[in-house]
Amino acid sequence: MPMVLVTGGIKRIGDQSMSKRDFYEVLGVSRDASERDIKKAYKRLAMKFHPDRNQGDDTAAEKFKEVKVAYEILTDAQKRSAYDQYGHAAFEQGGMGGGGFGGGGADFGDIFGDVFGDIFGGGRRGGQQRAQRGSDLRYNMELTLEEAVRGCDKEIEVPTLVSCDPCEGTGAKKGTSSTTTCSTCHGQGQVQMRQGFFAVQQACPTCHGKGKIIKDPCNSCHGEGRVHKTKTLNVKIPSGVDTGDRIRLSGEGEAGEHGAPAGDLYVQVHVKEHNIFERDGNNLYCEVPVSFTMAALGGEVEVPTLDGRVSLKVPLETQTGRMFRMRGKGVKGVRTHSAGDLIVKLIVETPVKLTKRQKELLQEFQESFDGKDAKKHNPKSEGFLSGVKNFFDDLTK
Ligand SMILES: [Zn+2]
Ligand SMILES: [Zn+2]
Repeated sequence: MPMVLVTGGIKRIGDQSMSKRDFYEVLGVSRDASERDIKKAYKRLAMKFHPDRNQGDDTAAEKFKEVKVAYEILTDAQKRSAYDQYGHAAFEQGGMGGGGFGGGGADFGDIFGDVFGDIFGGGRRGGQQRAQRGSDLRYNMELTLEEAVRGCDKEIEVPTLVSCDPCEGTGAKKGTSSTTTCSTCHGQGQVQMRQGFFAVQQACPTCHGKGKIIKDPCNSCHGEGRVHKTKTLNVKIPSGVDTGDRIRLSGEGEAGEHGAPAGDLYVQVHVKEHNIFERDGNNLYCEVPVSFTMAALGGEVEVPTLDGRVSLKVPLETQTGRMFRMRGKGVKGVRTHSAGDLIVKLIVETPVKLTKRQKELLQEFQESFDGKDAKKHNPKSEGFLSGVKNFFDDLTK
C-alpha cells in the first residue's frame, strides 16, 4: 500500500494538496505549449527532482510526483482539454484512472521508462480495477525524552479522507442503485486505442478503469464515497519508545474508495534532543561538572536522573572524564523488562575569575610540588611525557 506522509502533526503532503497547483505553472510552460515543449520541460524537471538524486528529500519527492502528474495530464489530449476547460475540478470525481492521483503512490520508475510507458498508455495496470483500500498514513510525532520514557497520551490532528456519511461510502446518491456497468468498455475497465503504429490498451476514460460507473453520484463526495476531513485522534504512547519506533493505528488511515476498507495510520516516533541526557538504547548518558578540589579530595555530587536527583560519591583523586555507572537509572525500553543504566561522566572544571588571593594560593599550591617527587602528583603528565620522549627517541634512531 502506498503511504502518504503527514508531517509535524499539521501539514499533510499528499497528491490531493499538491495537485492544486496549476499544471502549466508546475512545468513552467505557457498554456499553448506544444507537446514537445511539455516533454522537454518534464524531462528537465524530472531529472532535477528524481528521488535517486535527492535521497531522503521529501520535498523533492513531492515535486517529482507533482511534475509527473502535470506531465501525464498535459500530454494526454483529452485530459489536457478537460483541464483547460474545468481546471482541477475536471479530475476530482472518482479518482484518476490515468495514474498519479488516487492512492498517493509515488511511482519512481526510470524517467525514460515513464516517457516510454506513456506511449503505451495504461500498460502498467492490467484488467479491471477494484475499489482500492485507502492509503496508509504516516504521522511524524516529536516527543520529549521524558514523554518517550514515561509514555503519554497525545491528541493529534490528521487531515485525511473519511467515509462519506450521506451515501454511506457507496458514492451513489441515497436511494439510487449504486453502480451500473460502464457502456464504453462494457465493464472491462480497458479500451483499445490507436496511437501511431501502436494499438494499445488504455484505462477506460469513462469509468477510469473501474468497469462501473455511478449513475447518480452523491452530492457530498461526488461519487468517491469519501470526503476530506481533519480527524482528531488520541494516541497512547507506551512508555519506553525511542526514535524509529512506529505505532500502528489500524483502520485510521484514509478511507477507501466506494466503501473499500480504510488504510492504517502509522505514528512515527522521533525523540527530541534533551539538554542533559543522551540516550543510547536503554542507557542514558550525562556529564556532570565537579570542582578540581572535589576531584582531588573526593566528596559527593548531585546527579540528575529522570526520577529526580541522586547523590554520587566522588572518590579521592578522580581524573576528569571518569565514568560512573548507576545501575537501573536508565530507561525501561518498550520491549524490555529491566531498565538500563545511567552513565555519568565527571568533568573536572578549571576555576575561572580568580581573585588575587586565590591566584596566590594556587601559585603557592603549585610551588609545593617543586622538588624531586613532583612527578608522583601528576600521574598522567608523567606517562605522557615519557611517551613523548620515547616518540622522539624513535624518530632520531
Ligand atoms: Zn469503462
Ligand atoms: Zn457520498
